[in-house]
Amino acid sequence: MICRNVWVDNQFLRVRLIDQMSNAQLSSKADVARANWTAAAGPQILSWAPVANDTWIYLKRNDLLAVPNGVTFNCNNALVPACSDQARAMQIVWSEIYVPLGNKDHAKGTSVFSHEIGHALGLFHHGNACVPLMSSGLGAAGCVNPPVAPQAVDIGGLPPCGANVEHGIRCIYKWD
Ligand SMILES: [Zn+2]
Repeated sequence: MICRNVWVDNQFLRVRLIDQMSNAQLSSKADVARANWTAAAGPQILSWAPVANDTWIYLKRNDLLAVPNGVTFNCNNALVPACSDQARAMQIVWSEIYVPLGNKDHAKGTSVFSHEIGHALGLFHHGNACVPLMSSGLGAAGCVNPPVAPQAVDIGGLPPCGANVEHGIRCIYKWD
């Protein structure tokens, strides 16, 4: 699976975050998530500045979402409508992440950004609740101290990927 339309085998995946949230505190939390994903193993390098052959993740607000949630729409020109909340590996042309304003001063605000960026990169939910970054219900009340960066299962094994590691970022991009 190659989830981003611009990605070329064995080259870095350059992702540009486009901030349309109009809130400095939200932007600051998103920047920690950006740095954490860039520091993790895998092809992804995330930046705010445009670079050649980049692929876009828009960061937007939906203040109707319950705090501390978020949602990611992955967008593919072949889909009608073009964007859907599929949060899974697919041919992604661009992504839109929505968070409510209240995430700005919530303890899980950074975790939500990191989790949603994982969806935008093509990752689905996996692993035990609250342990991997990509566990479902990360923002739920029962999830104490969720991770703010990709964990081992989110990174996955080196390809070829075996049981329990096949959903990691290295596996879906065949990054070895
Ligand atoms: Zn999720």
